[in-house]
Formats: sequence, structure tokens, C-alpha cells
Amino acid sequence: MSPREAELAERLAAVRARMEDARVAAGRDDTPTLVVVTKFFPGSDVELLTGLGVTDIGESRDQEAAEKVAALARREALTVHFVGQVQSKKAGSVARYADVVHSVDRAKLAQALDRGAERAGRVLDVLVQVGLDTAGERGGVAPADLPGLAATVAGLEHLRLRGVMAVAPREGPPRPAFARLRELAEALRVEHPGATWMSAGMSADLEDAVAEGATHLRVGTAILGTRQSHG
Ligand SMILES: *Cc1c(COP(=O)(O)O)cnc(C)c1O
Repeated sequence: MSPREAELAERLAAVRARMEDARVAAGRDDTPTLVVVTKFFPGSDVELLTGLGVTDIGESRDQEAAEKVAALARREALTVHFVGQVQSKKAGSVARYADVVHSVDRAKLAQALDRGAERAGRVLDVLVQVGLDTAGERGGVAPADLPGLAATVAGLEHLRLRGVMAVAPREGPPRPAFARLRELAEALRVEHPGATWMSAGMSADLEDAVAEGATHLRVGTAILGTRQSHG
């Protein structure tokens, strides 16, 4: 095992242990999906992670992600999640390689992804990103606008509405924000029973997200380390 593989294996095991402790503490009997966010890190790390049993990776920049995913030896072994902001003009590109888009925050983007998915002959799983901070600085639709945007997504033929995503606000504790997201997710499910996913929790706050019922965690630095200079 190379030093890098040993390092990734150790950090991955530590994150899985944190997830398991949080799951037991929350009395949950389901284990959330771990999306390992590999942005800023090379495809060689993705290959090592795949060998270590990782099934889901996350990316947040279109050009970097497109190149990395195209070069993967075992693309079919992975579900690729796009977790960052998407410019509408990049939607056609993202629709070609992403399996799941976590960050749909406006109707125009949903429509552009739908057209891109149609051209690529694909159907994308989509989460609506909700802004949980009053300033909206971390992105996402205002909670009041979630039902409308979700209805738009649900009405598009090449998108499948799977649920909601959020990033905890910079200020204040994450747990109440994730509790709010859970309420919004539950309310959304009344109209859209298939929207069962809740993407929340990163390296620093994954325990709070597990406690509030997150189905997908997006963890980068706790596994990959801090950003490399070539990012
Ligand atoms: C980078 C990123 C993550 C991972 O964050 P870490 O703190 O490195 O675990 C999760 N979600 C989104 C949207 C990101 O851009």
C-alpha cells in the first residue's frame, strides 16, 4: 500500500467510525451514504478511494470534474455527485457526467439541466439546495420558494426530484439549521413521496447532520486533507 493509500484508508476509517458513532447515538438503523468530495484532488486519489470501497464521489467545479471523471478507469463503479454551484451555461456539461446534482437553486438551472440530460440520453437525480442562512451567502433557494422550485423539477422529464440539500450557515451552530432542513424535507415529501434524500453535513458537522436524519454526507477535507496547490 502506498503512503497516500494508507493515509486515505486511515482517514476514511476515521470518518466511517464517526458516522457509526453518530448513527448509534441518534438511534438510527440506516447508514447514510458517504459522498467523498474529491474537488482539488487528482483522479489518482479517486482511483485509490474506489479501491478502498468508496462508491460515491462529489465534485464542485465543472471543468475539473469533467476531465477527472472522463479519465476514471472504473467510472461504472462510482456514483458522481455535483455539489457546487452550477452556472446555467455549464449545465449541459454537468448533465453529461454527473449522476446526481445537489445544488439546483433556480428554475432556469433546472431547465438547462433537463435539456442537457435529454441531449445526453440520461436522467439526473436532483436535489434542491435550500439556503438556511438569512443572507443567502452559502447559496440555495429561500425556504418559502422550495415548494415551487421542487414542483418545477418534478415536472421535468429528464430530472428526478430526490430531495433537498443544504450547507450549514457560517454563523451559529449547525444542528438547528439541519433540524430546519429536516422539517422542510418532511413537508416536501407530502407532495413528492419520492423526495427522500437529505444531503447535509461536511467534515466539521457530520454528526449534527446524522442526528437530524441526513441520508447523504458530503465529506472532503477529513478524508482527502487540505486543498492541494494544483487545484
Ligand atoms: C467542498 C464541499 C464539501 C466538503 O467540505 P469539507 O469541509 O471539505 O468536508 C461539501 N459540500 C460542498 C457543497 C462543498 O463545496
